[in-house]
Amino acid sequence: MENSVLIDQYGRQISYLRLSVTDRCNLRCYYCMPEEGMNFVPGKELLTFGEMHDLSALFCSLGISKIRITGGEPFVRNGIMTFLEGLSGLSGLQEITITTNGTLPGRYIARLKDAGIRKLNISIDSLDPQRFLQITRRDSFRDVYACIFRLLREGFEVKLNCVVAAGKNTQDIIPFVELTKEHALVVRFLEEMPFNGSSNFDQFNWTHEDIYSFISGRYPELTRLQAEPNSTSVNYRVPGYKGSFGIIPSFSRTFCGSCNRIRLSATGELRTCLYGPPAVNLRDVLRSGASESEIRKVITDAVAGRLRDGFEAERQNAKQIKDSMSMLGG
Ligand code: SAM
Ligand code: SF4
Repeated sequence: MENSVLIDQYGRQISYLRLSVTDRCNLRCYYCMPEEGMNFVPGKELLTFGEMHDLSALFCSLGISKIRITGGEPFVRNGIMTFLEGLSGLSGLQEITITTNGTLPGRYIARLKDAGIRKLNISIDSLDPQRFLQITRRDSFRDVYACIFRLLREGFEVKLNCVVAAGKNTQDIIPFVELTKEHALVVRFLEEMPFNGSSNFDQFNWTHEDIYSFISGRYPELTRLQAEPNSTSVNYRVPGYKGSFGIIPSFSRTFCGSCNRIRLSATGELRTCLYGPPAVNLRDVLRSGASESEIRKVITDAVAGRLRDGFEAERQNAKQIKDSMSMLGG
């Protein structure tokens, strides 16, 4: 990343963009959205795919080498595959990954491969169809479960994201670890965060320490794995198992010191920290007719002003009602 010009005031280089392509979704996970009455933004407030492409090109010229496509559910937006195919040709972009709920990507396996996309994160919080229904308020377990194994058979690298919460799915933790016995996938257990579109959040939920002690109580022989640079998860393997698992302190925020990511929401809000307010709305900057060099300056200034960590950023965020992750771009 020698050429990166996206460097914050603490010397952290930004090379990873999480791009939310829509706020809409075909599931209603309790930790992300209310069951009813989710206010989706009018279509004209969303960045068009053309605008997203142009902004992505600009980000890549500033040193972004990895883009994760997220949402909302990325595959519910019409035209997503054509957009991804265009993105895959961007100069400087080394990797496109996608976070999806796994209900729809099965339709696009061949096109995903052709676009060079090899890594998908699938969100699944229970291996029990009934609990899955309670968590997502939709009866899609079989589609998601089938999609995971189809992707593995087709040679994709698959990570499963599982938000752990007391009273919801702690009984699924060991079955998820057991899934790594025969399958070369990675399960990541996440702490629940307060981004559910309301002001209700019980922060006394399962912490990363709780998750670790629960699993290590069952598997005392766990091996800790070498972390990838800038990784947010602490990773382990049960000796002899084909896959591995990780624990992400998404609420405890122990990883901010090496964070290399920024987020662009579907409405153009650029966030340099998930917990902070948007630094700028790039849709508005773009639609005001700003030149490329003006937009570059807006982006580099926003990144330069990034705060030390998610706690400092949260203190700057006056909002009582927290946005949904589907708006922020999870
Ligand atoms: N719809 C896609 C999906 O579910 O994978 C992509 C968007 S979703 C917002 C991205 C990730 O954020 C998912 O893994 C989801 O579990 C996680 N997420 C959403 N709300 C969360 C919350 N309040 N706390 C922790 N993780 C959350
Ligand atoms: Fe939809 Fe993903 Fe949010 Fe669940 S976590 S409601 S699948 S955007």
